[in-house]
Amino acid sequence: MTEAVFDPANPPAAQPTPIPLRELLPWVVFGGLLLLLALYFVGAEQGATSLVPGMYVHEFVHDGRHLLGFPCH
Ligand SMILES: [Zn+2]
Repeated sequence: MTEAVFDPANPPAAQPTPIPLRELLPWVVFGGLLLLLALYFVGAEQGATSLVPGMYVHEFVHDGRHLLGFPCH
């Protein structure tokens, strides 16, 4: 009978543990809301729909707006 001896030079491989959907769902919703907020600022933060006065946000995301094909100017 052989004993299992821990070899520090060759440690046992870590086994991945699945994340239950119930624990994952709040983070998925949170990430989705952040993505929707980013999409709003890139796509609609200008003119009448502007939340932040001035053109700072518009200019900050301007290249992204053109890259994603949103109408701009
Ligand atoms: Zn533009």
